[in-house]
Amino acid sequence: MIFVLLGPPGVGKGTQARLLAQRHNLEAVSTGDMIRAEVALGTPLGLSARAYIDAGNLVPDDLILQMVEGRLQNRLAAGFLLDGFPRTVPQAEGLTALLARTGRQLRGVLQIVVPEERVVERLGHRRVCPECNRVYNLESQPSAVPGRCDDHPGVPLVLRSDDDPVTVRHRIRVYHQQTEPLVAWYRERGLLREIDGLGEVDDVAGRIEAALDGAVP
Ligand code: AMP
Repeated sequence: MIFVLLGPPGVGKGTQARLLAQRHNLEAVSTGDMIRAEVALGTPLGLSARAYIDAGNLVPDDLILQMVEGRLQNRLAAGFLLDGFPRTVPQAEGLTALLARTGRQLRGVLQIVVPEERVVERLGHRRVCPECNRVYNLESQPSAVPGRCDDHPGVPLVLRSDDDPVTVRHRIRVYHQQTEPLVAWYRERGLLREIDGLGEVDDVAGRIEAALDGAVP
């Protein structure tokens, strides 16, 4: 199974990708995590990408497509969930071409929908583990020990540098301008499933499972 999770920053794509991956034995692939790893390692891609991430802008399509092709090529036989990719129509076309070359098909696109005010609020409370990228929310999904990852107790949780309120507003604008056209693009292709992202994490996960039942023949 190959699925895409679509939605603006803060709707819970990362959290749901992790749960879905565990339940279905799939790999969750987050382009944001991949790029942050490149930045941390100081690779040429990381050096080129850094300014875009810090400003809340999208990294150019050619860099993203190159990175994704390289990473997915040897994993195409297995199922995976794409979190944060594609984010533009050219990226969606690139994904379709990549899958077609290997005889694979996208099974569905899960669009997680949450009102904008809630998204901004959630991102202010978001903390991540820099070791495993697990996402917490200080209010709704706290770690067992405050400020520490459940899986890496020695590692302090951090606020992502692009989660400050000004950059968050900009990232949401970028989503509307560059990523939202994908909703219509995938709907036209009969692949879009809309998921209400409000409520408890488990409730949202239940809605995703119900949508998958409809999507999986
Ligand atoms: P995320 O962790 O998905 O919120 O992504 C964090 C940042 O990484 C974004 O604001 C972009 O700067 C960059 N990024 C992640 N995925 C993509 C993508 N598919 N296309 C372009 N930029 C991306």
